[in-house]
Amino acid sequence: MTADPILLTPGPLTTSLRTKQSMLRDWGSWDVDFNSITTRLRESLVRIMHGQGTHECVPLQGSGTFAVEAAIGTLVPRAGHVLVPQNGAYCQRIARICRVLGRRLSTIDYAEDVQVRPDDVDRLLTQDPTITHVALVHCETSTGILNPLQEIAAAVARHGKGLIVDAMSTFGALEIDASRTPVDAVVAASGKCLEGVPGMGFVLARRAALERCEGVSQSLAMDLYDQWTYMTRTTQWRFTPPTHVVAALDAALAQYFAEGGLAARGAAYAANCRQLIEGLTGLGLRTFLPAAIQAPIIVTVHAPDDARYEFKRFYNAVKERGYILYPGKLTTVETFRVGCMGQLGASGMRGPVAAIGAGLRDIGISSPELVRDMV
Ligand SMILES: *Cc1c(COP(=O)(O)O)cnc(C)c1O
Repeated sequence: MTADPILLTPGPLTTSLRTKQSMLRDWGSWDVDFNSITTRLRESLVRIMHGQGTHECVPLQGSGTFAVEAAIGTLVPRAGHVLVPQNGAYCQRIARICRVLGRRLSTIDYAEDVQVRPDDVDRLLTQDPTITHVALVHCETSTGILNPLQEIAAAVARHGKGLIVDAMSTFGALEIDASRTPVDAVVAASGKCLEGVPGMGFVLARRAALERCEGVSQSLAMDLYDQWTYMTRTTQWRFTPPTHVVAALDAALAQYFAEGGLAARGAAYAANCRQLIEGLTGLGLRTFLPAAIQAPIIVTVHAPDDARYEFKRFYNAVKERGYILYPGKLTTVETFRVGCMGQLGASGMRGPVAAIGAGLRDIGISSPELVRDMV
């Protein structure tokens, strides 16, 4: 359809032609046609996590981080205390949000290739009853590691505490079922597994929790309680909505449901991930995580142990072949990342694997069997 490179990144990602075309119309933010899209969108997002009757969808302008910050600032009382189990950069970002907002913070620190352990969360909640909330990242997109949401949610619920889940890179592809996983809030965004374009986050909040949050947020624009009550009353957004982003997400969701919803999306990403790892292994490359803890979202790959390797040159060589890679986000080892999401085109992951192999050859690395040892 176009010669634009395919994005192998975890959002923005390559969207379908139909999703792109849905942005060719301008909408009045107060118009009933646009407001009915907003209403439909909010209902669809609640349905994806089986939260009908228990959870409310509060969309928010901005990238995913805006919605995470709004969720912490609205749902955690000013005298609240947040426990953040950390195994990567997005967990650290939540911790930083807590500090910036002046919420009391405790962390449990893990290495980046170790899953959060539910027993540790349980123990910390027993030791310190002042903790009011746990904030968990479902898939740590910085590595691709999957954290055991179900077991952690059960532990948090046993202690009667609130759970806020950053499900930015899993929502819509990996199951989160509010009818069996107790969560106060799930936070995600338009431009990840739902394959819309970036520009809108949303929080799926337990209504009983949200109802208690009037006046908690110290921000006007990031106050989800205010956004929710205004939207419920008027069907409109409080401030100028990202109209094209909303229309694109509505179109992306129509395709998502037509293709089979979460089960189909999850299966497609899992197939992409398997094909990718097989292909990279065939090239002599090695993944950072063992398969058992790898989410089928994004794969971190060790750089070849070769003096000629330089990410920028490698990136450009792969880009010339039509694919955009993602840099690594680890401080201790040299890595790059490849996303498994988005509209990859007819060749699936074979195209990207071939481009990666050819890109390495272009920079003079023909047999990367000897990859850097784990530090
Ligand atoms: C993408 C992402 C975010 C949000 O990042 P933005 O750059 O603000 O969109 C937050 N958490 C995780 C786990 C993510 O993958």
